[in-house]
Amino acid sequence: MSKNTGIANANHGNELRIQRVSSSRILQVDFDRLGFGDVFSDHMFSLRYFDGAWQTPEIIPYAPISVEPACLALHYGQTVFEGLKAFRGVDGQIRLFRPDRNEVRLESSCLRLCIPPLPRGMLELAIRKLIWLDHAWIPHRRGQSLYLRPLIFAEESHLGVRPASRYRFLLMTAPVGNYHPGGMEAIGLKVKERFARAAPGGVGGAKTAGNYAASLLPARESHDEGFDQVLWLDATTQAQVEEVGHMNIFFHLAGRVVTPALNGTILPGVTRESVLALLREHGYTAEERPIAIREVIDGACDGTLAEAFGTGTATVIAPVGRIGYREHTYEIHGNRPGPLAEWLYGQLLGIQHGELADPHGWTVNLGLPPFVQP
Ligand SMILES: *Cc1c(COP(=O)(O)O)cnc(C)c1O
Repeated sequence: MSKNTGIANANHGNELRIQRVSSSRILQVDFDRLGFGDVFSDHMFSLRYFDGAWQTPEIIPYAPISVEPACLALHYGQTVFEGLKAFRGVDGQIRLFRPDRNEVRLESSCLRLCIPPLPRGMLELAIRKLIWLDHAWIPHRRGQSLYLRPLIFAEESHLGVRPASRYRFLLMTAPVGNYHPGGMEAIGLKVKERFARAAPGGVGGAKTAGNYAASLLPARESHDEGFDQVLWLDATTQAQVEEVGHMNIFFHLAGRVVTPALNGTILPGVTRESVLALLREHGYTAEERPIAIREVIDGACDGTLAEAFGTGTATVIAPVGRIGYREHTYEIHGNRPGPLAEWLYGQLLGIQHGELADPHGWTVNLGLPPFVQP
């Protein structure tokens, strides 16, 4: 399959079939009380793969889909997804944050799962088309956004384990609230030595379903022990820090900002990459390297660990105030958000909402709605 075939098709507006809802559900939504992924906008973008090629896209009402009980994705987890956001700026303009990075990561997740990647440009086109139709669903307040969830799954029915011959790409969108409505609060992490999120050679570096299913039991146990998320260690030695919950992790340790180096078991976060760039640009020493849990605990004990925080699209920045390791719980920055977390959060939100300059060109400005059809 040539990578460009689909783009050529998809770029012809008349090739996209659009089936609109007969009446919008938007008036039923309380935009002051948005959670994360409880409500979805009126439409979704859908594209099928069969006969060796991605076919003609369509926009259809967001509604249940039907698959056969033997659908490969349901049995063997042949699915990959992404997560990014569209923001309504202080100037009313709609911005996406680094969708090109999500496209690259989706492609690499696909390759790991033997799923045919989307044609180049298809993800952003899907986003533009869907937002053109559902822009009213992008919330207005700072910190709120329209979460975009691309998903690809094996649609074929078959019981033998093998790559499928039929897949479906769906893009759905959900208006989501501010994760830190009353200001940031520090979270507590628990190191679960009996579990690992990802092993070398596995799929930890791909945004694929199995990683999240595997995280549920350790997460539940850490909740039962009074913590918010799991601090994941490497599977082999249980000595190196990898991620936190479904976020990347940073430590401000002995005057440097450190985050685990990408090694195949760590999900390469777009927020992680952006935070590294912001730090370096503002004169911080930011290092990507292996980080031993011992080093973190020692830093918490001797005071050289100034702060810690998680990074991810959903929360943006999640300050860490406590780490439970073995029998003890260690406090960081007095169990309160630290200055670096606060500053990074302000920088990212400011760029996303068009309040701050965007020297890296991270945002894609879709302009002021209503839009002409892209
Ligand atoms: C999505 C995800 C992240 C964060 O990635 P962002 O691109 O910053 O949202 C980190 N870790 C895991 C396991 C993830 O699934």
